[in-house]
Order: sequence, then structure tokens, then C-alpha cells
Amino acid sequence: MAKIFCVANQKGGVGKTTTTVNLAAGLAKLDQRVLLVDLDPQGNATMGAGINKAGLKASTYEVMLGTADVAAARQRSEPGHFDVLPSNRELAGAEVEMVELDNRERRLKDALAVVDKEYDFILIDCPPALSMLTLNGLCAAHGVIIPMQCEYYALEGLSDLVNTIKKVHANLNPDLKIIGLLRVMFDPRMTLSQQVSAQLEQHFGDKVFKTIIPRNVRLAEAPSYGVPGVTFDPTSKGAQAYIAFGAEMVKRIKKM
Ligand code: ADP
Ligand code: MG
Repeated sequence: MAKIFCVANQKGGVGKTTTTVNLAAGLAKLDQRVLLVDLDPQGNATMGAGINKAGLKASTYEVMLGTADVAAARQRSEPGHFDVLPSNRELAGAEVEMVELDNRERRLKDALAVVDKEYDFILIDCPPALSMLTLNGLCAAHGVIIPMQCEYYALEGLSDLVNTIKKVHANLNPDLKIIGLLRVMFDPRMTLSQQVSAQLEQHFGDKVFKTIIPRNVRLAEAPSYGVPGVTFDPTSKGAQAYIAFGAEMVKRIKKM
């Protein structure tokens, strides 16, 4: 059975999608079977995995509403060597349409239960909001990976996210835990980065992943080619860091 992880942070532009796509590709390099679920109507993870979000035959939207199943909607990321449940802006409508449905926080969980034997990892790229979509991600997952930049305001938003995770854990999904905080876009030359990084370790201990993802231009360039950074330039510092993070995750799930 797959271990299911949400990549979440309610802030935009903090590296959620980059982390989801490159962790998926990094895990695939380590021979793990991976499904990436794009839960963001922006469809950036879909595009970053090399799948055209325009004119999808079926998508996360239909899966959430129960009009298609995951097996029909998923596609292969050829460059990334993983499967993708793709999304596009249609998914924004699901937020409203789901209000009418039963069991609306658990739509994604129920849909994934049908395919979870086919994968080692299911990674969910969440939208930048604590919305009904994100709630579905949190209800489906065993754990949350929180990417964050080591800057002052990063810590400020963190308590809202941690409180939401605690509430979901208490009321909806007792399996849910914070797996870890991932330091991304890290610039070791900045004193503030070093200070915030040290603070995180002090405060969150072994909840902070050992792997640090550096700021690396190759990771930022890759999406415009529709290829994960890990595949685009496997020798780059960014790609190497995400492969190391994949190895760290493989180790972590053995202890779960
Ligand atoms: P989110 O999904 O949280 O909105 P993204 O993953 O889309 O964030 O990242 C925001 C921007 O930062 C994108 O332009 C992405 O290419 C860039 N980016 C993310 N991680 C890195 C990194 N490690 N090095 C350089 N650029 C990065
Ligand atoms: Mg994103």
C-alpha cells in the first residue's frame, strides 16, 4: 500500500510544486512507483511533469466529483517516469460543487483507495490555501511535507498550517502527521537563512529534514521545458538535492 504525502503550505511561491514534481522524479530514479496528484487548479505540477493541461480527457476535477476514476484520469509523465493525476482550472469549480456532496472532505481519499496498491508513494501538490481542496489532501494523507524558505515571514505562516493539521488530525484523519519541514531555495551565503534554519532545527528537532534544497536556476528553468528538474539536468545541485531527499523519504517510510 502506498504511503500518501501532501506537500502543503498555504503560501504561494514557496516551492510546493517544485518539491512535488522533483521528489516524484527523484523517487522514480530510486525505483519507487509514484503517483503525483495535482490538487491545484493552476495545474503547474501537471505542466511541470510534461502533460498538457489543456484538453485533459479526465482530471482531478472529475475524480473529486466522482464522474471519473483515477485509473481513467491518470497519465504518464514520460520524462519523469511517474504517473500523474492531472488538473487544470476546472478544478477551481470543484470547491463549490463539492459543498452539495456527501463525505466532501474524503472524496480524494476514497478515490485513491482504488489505486494505492499500485504505488509506493502518492504525492499530492496542494493549492496555496487552506481550502476544501487542501482539506481533501490532508484527509487522504499519512503525512505532510512542508516546504519553506528560511526567511522571517516563513515562520509566521507556519503556525496557521500547524494548527490546521492538528485540527484535521483530531477530527478527521488520526493518521495525519507532519513528516517534516523541508528547507528550500536555500542560500547559505545569507546570514538570515542560516539563522532561520538554526531556529527551525532548535524548535522542530528531527521534524526538519536533513536534506536542504539549494536555490538553483536549473530547477527554475526546467518547467518551461515540461520536464522535472531532476530529469532536465540530473547533475545540477538542485537535482542532486531532490534525489537525496527522495532517499531520505524512502528511509523515513520504513519507520512509519
Ligand atoms: P508553489 O508551488 O509553492 O507556489 P513553486 O514550486 O511554483 O511554488 O515555486 C515558485 C517559484 O520558485 C517558481 O518559479 C520555481 O521555479 C521557483 N523555485 C522553486 N524552488 C526553487 C529552487 N530550489 N531554486 C530556484 N528556484 C526555485
Ligand atoms: Mg504550486
